[in-house]
Amino acid sequence: MHRIILMGPPASGKGTQSLRIQKLLGVSALSTGNLLRREVESGSEIGVEVEVYLNSGAYVPDPLIMKMVANWIAEHDESGWLLDGFPRTLVQAQALESDPSFQAPTLAIALDVPEALLEHRIAGRRECSQCGATVSVSAGSDEKCPECGGELVSRADDDLENFRRRYANYREFTQPLFDYYAAQGKLLAVDGSRSPNEVFAIIEQHLQR
Ligand code: AMP
Repeated sequence: MHRIILMGPPASGKGTQSLRIQKLLGVSALSTGNLLRREVESGSEIGVEVEVYLNSGAYVPDPLIMKMVANWIAEHDESGWLLDGFPRTLVQAQALESDPSFQAPTLAIALDVPEALLEHRIAGRRECSQCGATVSVSAGSDEKCPECGGELVSRADDDLENFRRRYANYREFTQPLFDYYAAQGKLLAVDGSRSPNEVFAIIEQHLQR
């Protein structure tokens, strides 16, 4: 059974690869970023609490995100899973292995992309308001979603200043997890500056070994 985690900085292509891996393996997937943004949109108590973190480019506190992920896993653990954006800290990674609410991952995929390219991608990144697909547009375009024709919108947290804070957090807290999973022989590091098709081909080849 596949239990996959997907790590990478903002705009490294996690969402795109997550959709493709889901189709390939038929596993359920959770994007913790999407989950948190949905809570904010719903105006729930949790949403009000996490909005401050999201808007300032900070990670949400470990106990809060761990509880949300544990709830999701409890409902989706029959056929394996894919977590896009979790774990992001050592505390979260250790909980995945030692906390009975979770199970250890079988594979950790890390997408590596230089900062300058991430900044370029952030500037052109849009999300479909209907199906949630991530789409890259050129400046000033009024394109529609190529998947479903839905309206494309910018993510509220995709300004450059916010990106730089998220990237700094990523370097400090999440990148060290590459070594953590490499030491367990579970790391698949992929050059995320390559095209989505090329990145997926590498992941697919690894999964079908
Ligand atoms: P993403 O869509 O994956 O870029 O996530 C958007 C934002 O959600 C991040 O910048 C964090 O503020 C928050 N977030 C998502 N996943 C986590 C996590 N595992 N731990 C802490 N914060 C998270």
